[in-house]
Amino acid sequence: MTKKIITVTQPHLPPLEEFIPYLEKIWESKWLTNNGPFHQELEVALAKHLGVEHLALFTNGTLALVTALQSLRISGEVITTPYSFVATAHSLLWNNIRPVFVDIDPLTLNLDPDKIEAAITPQTTAIMPVHCYGNPCNVERIQQIADTYGLKVIYDAAHAFGVHYKNESLLKHGNLSVLSFHATKVFTTFEGGAIVCPDAETKQRIDYLKNFGFADEVTVMAPGINGKMNEVQAAFGLLQLKHIASAIARRKAVDLRYREALRGVAGISLLPAPPDTLRNYAYLPIMVGTDFTISRDALYQRLRDAGIHARRYFYPLISDMPMYRGLPSAAAANLPVAQKISAEILCLPIYPDLAEADQDRVIGIVRGGV
Ligand SMILES: *Cc1c(COP(=O)(O)O)cnc(C)c1O
Repeated sequence: MTKKIITVTQPHLPPLEEFIPYLEKIWESKWLTNNGPFHQELEVALAKHLGVEHLALFTNGTLALVTALQSLRISGEVITTPYSFVATAHSLLWNNIRPVFVDIDPLTLNLDPDKIEAAITPQTTAIMPVHCYGNPCNVERIQQIADTYGLKVIYDAAHAFGVHYKNESLLKHGNLSVLSFHATKVFTTFEGGAIVCPDAETKQRIDYLKNFGFADEVTVMAPGINGKMNEVQAAFGLLQLKHIASAIARRKAVDLRYREALRGVAGISLLPAPPDTLRNYAYLPIMVGTDFTISRDALYQRLRDAGIHARRYFYPLISDMPMYRGLPSAAAANLPVAQKISAEILCLPIYPDLAEADQDRVIGIVRGGV
């Protein structure tokens, strides 16, 4: 008998029959990509759903990050977090920008605003924070620093689909926000992403850049890339959108069950719920402290042996990877909080279709069973 594997996340797929009519339309029109009807429809529907002004779809979140930086002509140095998925910093290297790592806040695991100013130099042009696990950065303080020093702010909002902060979309903060619709994210188009932007002119430039820089048939305005979302992706996004509210409600129930079951387990801590925030319950991170009965990696392995694939998001730190570790800001002594959290973090399985019995197995092992 093969053992059932429980992964850290799993996409919520609507019944296949519901997707067939979309595919039939694509087959009829033979319009497969390049701003097709589903692409246009999804841009409008998502902007409305998220409560933002404008949004440009991309074929994945990484190309959206790369293009967001290019669209604002960011250069020199950009202040960012070492505690993220590697695409955050890679998008800087793809633009010939030097990442400058600043430590994180131990309560939010987001860029610590108190440490940003000390990292600003004459070469600094922007800040690229991450709303880690969908928990809001200190957007007010970050904007204040950006305004004082004349810096742009580009949020890696890959985890923050649908998150609202103080009764409006979190994605409205900064100059641009970038979403990912990868298969592992709360809202997915298999692969996909988007840039949220405040005005039509910026969206226009971004739309040129994601199509090689073509402004019209004969004008190429910049060395743009091919970042276009295709019609199958966009159609799937429209279908997903119909189910997103119930999917997030199911995530919330899973989150609540974990919190109740793991509260008070010695050596295990959970992040406090962020204030003034409508969450999306994208991740369930726990910190396995040195006072827990076994090490983080031993717990990870124990889960693994039981067929439960928890993930050490984020370990190793980006700043410890070969292409970054030589930077002065990457030194471990500069990033003590990120180093500590990275050694303790474990993200447990959370997704809409996670069965209670499976969740109970995860909980049982974390609580000290086998
Ligand atoms: C998923 C993710 C990305 C990359 O998005 P893709 O759509 O996979 O290219 C970037 N940043 C963070 C924080 C992510 O989690």
